[in-house]
This record gives sequence, C-alpha cells and structure tokens, in this order.
Amino acid sequence: MSGSTASSIAQACVRLSALGMASANGGNVSVRASKSRVLVTPTGMCLHEVTPGDLVTVNMSGRKLKGRGKPSIETQSHLAFYEERPDIRSVIHCHPPYALAWALARKAPPMKCFCEGYFLVDDVKLVRPYQTPVTQPAVVRKHAAKVNGFLLSNHGLLMAGAELRTALLRVETYELLCQSALQAERIGGAQQIEPRQLAWLRRLHDEHFPR
Ligand SMILES: [Zn+2]
Repeated sequence: MSGSTASSIAQACVRLSALGMASANGGNVSVRASKSRVLVTPTGMCLHEVTPGDLVTVNMSGRKLKGRGKPSIETQSHLAFYEERPDIRSVIHCHPPYALAWALARKAPPMKCFCEGYFLVDDVKLVRPYQTPVTQPAVVRKHAAKVNGFLLSNHGLLMAGAELRTALLRVETYELLCQSALQAERIGGAQQIEPRQLAWLRRLHDEHFPR
C-alpha cells in the first residue's frame, strides 16, 4: 500500500467531515489498492480524526491483513462493489444531510434535471426498505452492474468511482442535487431536461469525460 493512497483517503475523510457529510462517527471510505487488497477506514472512528496510519488493510473476503483497528462495519458493502465492478477503485459511504432527507422520506430526488448532475449521478439507485449493513452487500451485488451508487433508505449514501476523486465528486454532486431539488420543491419543483438535450449532453460527456 502506497503512503500516498493512505494520505489521499485521510484527506478525503477530512473533506467529507468538513463538508458536514459525515457527522459524528458516521461514514467510511475505501480504496482498492490491488487486485487482492483494499484499504478501508476503521469502525467507530470519526472521519475527521482519521490519519493514514489508522487505515486498515483487508483482503477481498474482508479479513484484516494489517492495521490497528477493526475494518468498518460496512466493509462488505464496499467489497461487493469491487467484486462486481473491476472498474471501481473507490467506495464512499456517508450521511450527507440533504441526501439523508430524501433517504428518510424513502424518495429519490428528481433526476435528469441538473446538467452536471446528469453527468455524474444519474445512475444512483434508491434502495427500499431500510438495509442494514449486513444486508446491503446483497443489494449492491444485485444492482452494481448498472449503477454507481445507492441511496439507502433511512440510512445514507453509498457511492463508487473509478478513483477516489470520482467517488468524492459523485458524493458532492449528488448532495448538491438533493439540496437544490428540495429547494426547487418550494417554487414548483425541478423540471426535467428534454430527452434530445439529454442525448446531446451524454455525447458531450462521453467525448470529454470517458468512463
Ligand atoms: Zn451509515
């Protein structure tokens, strides 16, 4: 495991915490360091406290290989993503307040209404009913081929990316969408972008930001 990967995870934890997306000791972050090893945050620790030395290395079964603490209780949900999607290198679970508001209401925010949101988070699936950390991996395995994230009813957000930066961008963009869509409800609701425009946006995105 390179020190730079561990440092990047610790920085991401601090950022999620600073943005109010991982209050108290909620949230966990992982990066697939190699074919057989994943670096994940320890359970029970506040993300703003996480340093590179606190990260736990596990194998693809979730067994600890290295580290002081225990791996996050939601490690198996992360591993399910890695198992199903070799292109995924990072997974973030957190409780962003506006995404959580939609999750508590068991409703997905309106999609296809925010240009940049469409690029990044059009494929986030609302999962109902409430999934415990123990049942989440099965849900991830079932849908991971088609989506890059899950809005977990009564719980929070599970987001994946080809790299840590992408997963972070998706979390931040989805939270902005959730916040703005909620505000838009007060003035008539978010309006969908027309299908032809969406097709054009998709081509533009694929041209400039290939997956
Ligand atoms: Zn959680």
